[in-house]
Amino acid sequence: MQLTKKISEVRSLIKQWRKEGLSIGLVPTMGFLHEGHKSLIDRAVKENDRVVVSVFVNPIQFAPNEDFEAYPRDIERDSKLCEDAGAALVFNPEPEEMYGDEFLTSINMTKITEVLCGKTRPTHFGGVCTVVGKLFNIVSPDRAYFGQKDAQQLSVIRRMVKDLNFDIEIIGCPIVREADGLAKSSRNTYLSPEERKAALVLSKSLCEAKKLIESGETNADKIITAAKKLIESEPLAKIDYVSIVSWDSLEKTDTINGAILMAEAVYIGKTRLIDNFITEQI
Ligand code: AMP
Repeated sequence: MQLTKKISEVRSLIKQWRKEGLSIGLVPTMGFLHEGHKSLIDRAVKENDRVVVSVFVNPIQFAPNEDFEAYPRDIERDSKLCEDAGAALVFNPEPEEMYGDEFLTSINMTKITEVLCGKTRPTHFGGVCTVVGKLFNIVSPDRAYFGQKDAQQLSVIRRMVKDLNFDIEIIGCPIVREADGLAKSSRNTYLSPEERKAALVLSKSLCEAKKLIESGETNADKIITAAKKLIESEPLAKIDYVSIVSWDSLEKTDTINGAILMAEAVYIGKTRLIDNFITEQI
């Protein structure tokens, strides 16, 4: 496996692979890899001849008050995980390599970036679309893999690919969880032992909601209220949002009808965590 910080080196390897007629899969990440990321890499390795994993904490998707500096980084450990999983290349650029000293262009999307996480993080998805668009142009993969953990991001990327005619198949992969239900996340490392326990309200409230739906409840407000009640019973938790929307238009829906996404963002202490479920296959 190779590790590079240079766009030119990625390009020349890709050129070589294309000459050999090999297919290419891309797994974009911010690093500090865990089993969730590994599930994406495993799937990419199964479905492509060569897999590129990008490890880049993308500064432009963080607002000034967010955790860009504090975000955990460990490229040595990440490289080992990628190599063991069968990736062919890890691309780990510095921000200067991606954005130079004057970057004037961005990809901005409206509507579906303005709901759910977009309300609290209004500049986030512009940063995500711009970096993913750049990665798509640098790597030009056949397929790119994204986790349902970030369901809105998956929907946004699918939309960007459709709107801007990227010739890339977007593959959505299921959420990988800890044994007790907490969705795996690099940000879980921020949690104190007490907060780690409190963080279970996210998955528990979604389980509760799912049970209500399975028992025939179709009123979205009732389901949201039940989930909120459970979260509010945890003193360390503060709700950002709990929402039910249609999948994958992300339009608000009052009734459970067809595929829906129930998504939530909850602060546990200072750490903002997200979780969700979708009632149909992604
Ligand atoms: P991140 O490094 O957090 O930007 O995530 C990189 C990719 O891994 C995104 O497509 C995420 O949705 C995906 N991912 C992160 N955590 C999980 C998880 N617990 N299960 C499945 N995919 C995940």
